[in-house]
Amino acid sequence: MKTVNLCREQVYSGNLLLVNARYPLRQAIAPEQIRPLERETAEHSRVFLERKTALVLETLFTTIGSGSLLVPVSGFRTRKEQEDIYASSLKELGKDFTESYVASPGHSEHETGLAIDLALNREPIDFLRPYLPRDGICGRFRSKAASYGFVERYQAGKEARTGIAPEPWHFRYVGLPHASIMDAHGFCLEEYLDYLREFPYEGRHLKVHVENKSFELFYKKAEDELTEIHLPGYLPFQVSGDNREGFIFTLWR
Ligand SMILES: [Zn+2]
Repeated sequence: MKTVNLCREQVYSGNLLLVNARYPLRQAIAPEQIRPLERETAEHSRVFLERKTALVLETLFTTIGSGSLLVPVSGFRTRKEQEDIYASSLKELGKDFTESYVASPGHSEHETGLAIDLALNREPIDFLRPYLPRDGICGRFRSKAASYGFVERYQAGKEARTGIAPEPWHFRYVGLPHASIMDAHGFCLEEYLDYLREFPYEGRHLKVHVENKSFELFYKKAEDELTEIHLPGYLPFQVSGDNREGFIFTLWR
């Protein structure tokens, strides 16, 4: 057995953070956890992402051979950048458009470094609503995304839960096995995190087989100060906060 102790603040970090209108980002990502994508963008400026998200996305681009066909349009944004985008959208495009497509500062997934907006490389590229169709190279990206840990975050039909109009260009890194489970069940992140609460540390855990690997998952609500968990000593594991009130543990079986 090994003992894992988590402090309260760790609820606010990890690849399963839920950031939406109800749950603002509580803890900014550390600058050293961000790096530029090794890919030129439309304006020849660089797009930054959380380190692991960047690496996995580059691997996925290489796997599908997207070359310069797919353009990363927007990745990590600082609070200030989100404020500027929100203000200029309000001014130029109005309240209805902005409230449908631009998250208010502090409530944007782009501030986590785990979200990427992609466009098909075809002029002109719309910064706020990039064109990413469902066929061709974009279709190949979509078909492989979940097995690399990415989900289409704002799908049609989920507006009541996400609070965001469909955004077929916005992908969110959640990692494995989460993206595959979400894909198989048709869950948005809000639904998936609710589902995981049905598998508490103290009760029956979720066991899944994804990409030829077996995983065991469970949820643990954070204690006031320290949360103590006991795990079998030999299993690799990962823990992520949900940005609400608990932790999701993922064990590689
Ligand atoms: Zn986006």
